[in-house]
Amino acid sequence: MSEPSHFLPLPRLLKTQPLRWLLGSVKGQILALFLVTSISASVLTLMDYRDLSMLKRRLLLEDRYHDLLDNVLEVRRYEKNYLLYKDRSNLVEGGHYLAKIEPLVLNLSGDMVEITSRKTFEEFHDVVVGYAKTHRVYQASAAPPGDGALMRRQGRELTDFATMFLRAKQKETRKAIENVLLLPFAFLGVFFLLMLLVMRLVSLGLLRPLKRLQTIIRDVATGDYNPGGYEGFQTEEMHGLIEAFDRMARELAVNQEHLLQAGKMAALGTFTAGIAHELNNPLNNISLTAETYLEEYGDRMDDEGRELIGDVLAQSERACDIVKNLLDFSRTRQRIRTSVDASEIVRSTVSLVKNQAALSGVKLDIRLPEGLPPVRGSLRSLQQVFSNLLINAVQAMAGGGTLTVDVKDEPPDSLRFDIRDTGMGMDPETVGRIFEPFFTTKEAGKGTGLGLAVVYSIVKRHGGSIGVKSEIGAGTVFTVLLPVAETEGEPAGPEQERSENAAHAGGNS
Ligand code: ADP
Ligand code: MG
Repeated sequence: MSEPSHFLPLPRLLKTQPLRWLLGSVKGQILALFLVTSISASVLTLMDYRDLSMLKRRLLLEDRYHDLLDNVLEVRRYEKNYLLYKDRSNLVEGGHYLAKIEPLVLNLSGDMVEITSRKTFEEFHDVVVGYAKTHRVYQASAAPPGDGALMRRQGRELTDFATMFLRAKQKETRKAIENVLLLPFAFLGVFFLLMLLVMRLVSLGLLRPLKRLQTIIRDVATGDYNPGGYEGFQTEEMHGLIEAFDRMARELAVNQEHLLQAGKMAALGTFTAGIAHELNNPLNNISLTAETYLEEYGDRMDDEGRELIGDVLAQSERACDIVKNLLDFSRTRQRIRTSVDASEIVRSTVSLVKNQAALSGVKLDIRLPEGLPPVRGSLRSLQQVFSNLLINAVQAMAGGGTLTVDVKDEPPDSLRFDIRDTGMGMDPETVGRIFEPFFTTKEAGKGTGLGLAVVYSIVKRHGGSIGVKSEIGAGTVFTVLLPVAETEGEPAGPEQERSENAAHAGGNS
């Protein structure tokens, strides 16, 4: 699948094994989405918590810088009063505030170094120590030494530093607030990215294959039973769905074929039954007339005449056989209640073709396990099935070979007969037509093309099924499945057989 370069190169990414494993199914995608969302939400919450608590700490520190500045300003107020009124009690008052400044500076020292630099802090510290010293000297002397310029200068420096520190702290706090404000937007960004990823996954793994499924369904509806699958990326679930659908289409095709076959057979059955009935009487009349003619005038004819009448008799007998087969093929379905021993069917049929097999140099391999259950059916019809199959097999092995008949149980309730030859085999096109009446590949006079049509019709009438596998030059296997007789089914009595034969006799009369 050639994918135009995309801001999310998912198709290429999905070729890597771990990602495929995780994102290859809707289940995995939901899990991945859940994991990514909860992890990013947790990370963002933690970050938010960290930023807010840092902000809280900074605000608390900022309060202390305010305290520092306030104390400095108090000290300076008393300093001013002292220098104005020369009253030492002012210095005593100011001293109280000065005493508060030193521990504050100690307390804030680390933070001060952090927000400015060690050098700045040391300068400030020197100023504080210097001012305190001057303060003490002034307090100890009765009158201010000099004009107090030193104290004023040091005081001004003190104020400048305290203000500077407060400003720096305020700046830092403002920055922290901005960070906290930005966080929700970062969250939103991550969320949008996730949504894009989800949309992309849904489109790739679900929507596209669904669209493909739509066309597959349309194709199947219009009779294309081989619509093909979907090549691109798809979730496991979609893959299963498309595959199931593909399988369904193939099975539909097979069923459709079976239905067509059954319909064709039914129509042909009605048609051939009509013709066979119509031909039956004239054919019988021809045989009868020829026989009578031979009896009455045989003596007065020369050899050539008798041979000709013999031909008429032989050919009409052949025609009668064909008609009989046609009637077998077209007989309507009636429920068969008799049961037959499976081994007996096989043994009696094999003995019918034994000679023909020996003549063609075909070895027989008959595998009949002990204790096979009886099948539902009539012996005569089933003999017809197996003799047709065996004769076809022998005919397919003109140069010799092995004919195997293998009977075994086919759970739950059938017997399976495999008739395998090592003959010439068939191409798929031939295999598709062999059950059609009158389809034959044998030369005129050799095959009527009715054998397998009759086999098919009889097997169906018995509630069984027949399948074939063939390979040109290697051989053919016909597989017949016949339902096992219910235990209470009485074995085929002579009466039943007679009525079956009677039906045939009726057809022939
Ligand atoms: P017929 O034997 O009169 O030709 P069938 O209905 O018995 O008619 O068989 C139809 C065709 O099926 C045969 O002409 C032959 O081409 C093919 N066929 C049947 N059985 C075999 C087999 N065992 N091996 C190869 N071809 C077979
Ligand atoms: Mg045949």
